[in-house]
Amino acid sequence: MSEVMVLGAGMVGVSTALALQAAGRAVVLVDRQDPGRETSYGNAGIIQGEAVEPYGLPRDLVSLWRIVLGQDNAVSYHLNALPSHLEVLWRYFRASAPARHRHASQTYAGLIQRATNDHAPLIAAAGADKLIRRDGFRTAARSERPFAAQVAEAERLERSYGVRISVMDGDALAAAEPALKLRFAGAIHWHDGWTCSDPGALVAAYADLFRARGGKIASADAMLLQQDGAGWKLGPHQAADVVVALGPWSPMLLARFGYRIPLLRKRGYHRHFRGGATLDLPMMDTSIATVLAPMATGLRVLTGAELARPGAPPTPRQLARAETAAREILDLGDQVELQPWMGNRPCMPDMIPLVGQAPRHRGLWFHFGHGHQGFTLGPTTAALLAEHMSSGRAPIPALDPARRTG
Ligand SMILES: Cc1cc2nc3c(=O)[nH]c(=O)nc-3n(C[C@H](O)[C@H](O)[C@H](O)COP(=O)(O)OP(=O)(O)OC[C@H]3O[C@@H](n4cnc5c(N)ncnc54)[C@H](O)[C@@H]3O)c2cc1C
Repeated sequence: MSEVMVLGAGMVGVSTALALQAAGRAVVLVDRQDPGRETSYGNAGIIQGEAVEPYGLPRDLVSLWRIVLGQDNAVSYHLNALPSHLEVLWRYFRASAPARHRHASQTYAGLIQRATNDHAPLIAAAGADKLIRRDGFRTAARSERPFAAQVAEAERLERSYGVRISVMDGDALAAAEPALKLRFAGAIHWHDGWTCSDPGALVAAYADLFRARGGKIASADAMLLQQDGAGWKLGPHQAADVVVALGPWSPMLLARFGYRIPLLRKRGYHRHFRGGATLDLPMMDTSIATVLAPMATGLRVLTGAELARPGAPPTPRQLARAETAAREILDLGDQVELQPWMGNRPCMPDMIPLVGQAPRHRGLWFHFGHGHQGFTLGPTTAALLAEHMSSGRAPIPALDPARRTG
């Protein structure tokens, strides 16, 4: 019998398995497919050392009105999805109020600022250095006014948190990224980020490391989890403790045990392009809220957030706009996939992941809700969870699930 079962082999689950293994526990990692094939595959691959403040809901009327009118490509929504999201959006809106957002940012910054250090030993031990660059990434603005606002915001983060930035004018950006056809007003170079050329492959490399260190990986449907005396059972697997790290699917399993988890699933899309121009470093074109990330498969064009009903078919309107805008700045070449990839960012309305013991079940542990930064934070919150499970004490009480579940 394994001591711990970890459900979900995305960045969060694989990191959990490694951290518990390092703490001396016998671990079985369970997924219904190979490690790193879902959200942890499809992201922008940035280990975001600069993302010290979580992504709040805009609260000013101009920004909200632009979202309502569909003028902001960062956010899109299906009208028929709003009734089912009202409660979670209201919580998100309240948590994004300046004082509460500042408070959440204190916790968040503490996690983010250690993230690259927590990835570093795993990257080295997994032999994954070839997937990683440590040169940061850029956010670029096409016109002067938004650029000035972005510089002011970046300088605020530099002053408040010590985030390392360089401000580049249009000429400096053109020199750094010679494939750009359009002259931008300028860019912020965020130096604290590391970038990965194949996020799914990094998770798979971490999973191989877990296996090489004696861990077991099993294929099963986590929805079949059952309580079994004082422990837990899933098919042939039994364990005293079980960690739910199913990313956006976590609330579905936990509903079976009576937990009502308010999780906002923010959809995102990507598609790759190959055979044309590419970039040296990932870049966000802020005029259209699109990240362009050079990847092993080609240049990955990614979108912001879409709110849709669970199970609603893909509606990649933001991606279509992003691709049109990307063609204005680069000769993209040919699209690699006919159908774009779609996934869901698992976002807690208070922007802080749930990391710790389930309020009403012994041996049940939550580890999900990493929102926009789960690829970054997996190893960090995994180390904190392993410490909690070993010591019986939550190292960061603000992550405790008891506060945010019904
Ligand atoms: C467009 C986009 C861009 C992003 N860019 C970044 C970025 O640059 N940097 C960053 O830090 N984050 C980024 N993110 C967020 C990040 O990708 C997620 O926060 C992170 O991948 C979540 O990891 P996870 O392990 O919790 O979930 P997942 O990676 O989704 O893993 C969950 C696992 O659970 C498994 N599972 C689900 N149901 C079952 C079941 N019934 N039985 C068995 N297994 C099951 C799945 O197969 C999957 O392997 C981005 C997200 C999107 C959508």
